[in-house]
Amino acid sequence: MIPFRPTFTPFVKTPMSRFWSQVVRDLTPYVPGEQPKIANLIKLNTNEHPFPPSPRVLDAIRNELGEDGARLRLYPDPNADLLKQAIAKRYAVDSSKVFVGNGSDEVLAHIFMALLKHDAPILFPDITYSFYPVYCGLYGVEYRAIPLAEDFSLNPADYRGQQGQNGKIGGIIFPNPNAPTGRLLPLAAIEQIVCANPDCVVVVDEAYVDFGGDTAIPLTERYDNLLVVHTLSKSRSLAGLRVGYAIGHPALIEALERVKNSFNSYPLDRLAIVGAVAAIEDEAHFQQCCHAVIATREALTAKLEELGFTVLPSAANFIFARHPQHDAAELAKALREKNIIVRHFKQARIDQFLRITIGTDSECATLVDALRALIG
Ligand SMILES: *Cc1c(COP(=O)(O)O)cnc(C)c1O
Repeated sequence: MIPFRPTFTPFVKTPMSRFWSQVVRDLTPYVPGEQPKIANLIKLNTNEHPFPPSPRVLDAIRNELGEDGARLRLYPDPNADLLKQAIAKRYAVDSSKVFVGNGSDEVLAHIFMALLKHDAPILFPDITYSFYPVYCGLYGVEYRAIPLAEDFSLNPADYRGQQGQNGKIGGIIFPNPNAPTGRLLPLAAIEQIVCANPDCVVVVDEAYVDFGGDTAIPLTERYDNLLVVHTLSKSRSLAGLRVGYAIGHPALIEALERVKNSFNSYPLDRLAIVGAVAAIEDEAHFQQCCHAVIATREALTAKLEELGFTVLPSAANFIFARHPQHDAAELAKALREKNIIVRHFKQARIDQFLRITIGTDSECATLVDALRALIG
């Protein structure tokens, strides 16, 4: 027998192969921020929360594991009903309006497939979460990138019919606050977009809303075309647990359930379900941690402005800043050499900006000292 010899080198980009389907040949995958394997790095590049999750999350996970982990033999609840109920209670909506998934990225993927794939282009801002065009590529959804204003604000009047062929559009999606700018759109502007487009779904990705915005969830009681997406990765300190959810009219939720049940019946494991429930139920811990991040954000913004940075107004757990005299890519590289990682995007309009996640007070102080030394 000829032994099997792997011909690939792990972690090295392999060239295209004749085995690849056409879909895979045409994909341009999303590139997430670096998750370095080095210890003692100040990691301000992927918008994780600087503080640990609620201690109740650990209790719930330990309890689910029990003495011997025997419960892990059994599949989790495919509908994650306990979690849907906890979310429904927190936002005072019916649980038929709640969909849950393995991180909000998975929820978003199902939304593209179930609600945004039509015979007309969808609209999103030119500067936004870079996963949206990736899902368009995966599912064959046409899109138009609508330029934000010079100051990176979004004009609601830009989001209505007549943009696509025959004036039709297939849907609208944007984060609020936007990523990577941090800029917030007031609720009245969201409502204007939802009202102006009654025949397509408007998706508001509220990954960062808990750091200073008002959620559009109450509007879902009045508009059947609005879907609001949340994640536990940012404001609930649980990026490692992978839980996200969407809230909207039950007919929108049913579309997502149909896709989910055609893909993976058990997107949330047992530990994720109980951990997420505990996180949602610990309101005091949540409020306290969000407020701490907001206070640090305001202090860091002031410090960077003192150093000559221009900082966009942020309602998120990161800031978007540029220095008029210093190249952003070079600053990012120099910070990396000092073991501090921030995010830089090689993209037109924003290639002179750094996106800096709000860390602990001490991490932010180290960052400010490093920048002061660099720009003198
Ligand atoms: C982080 C982020 C997400 C994804 O969050 P996960 O729940 O971790 O998949 C979605 N949308 C935006 C705008 C984000 O920044």
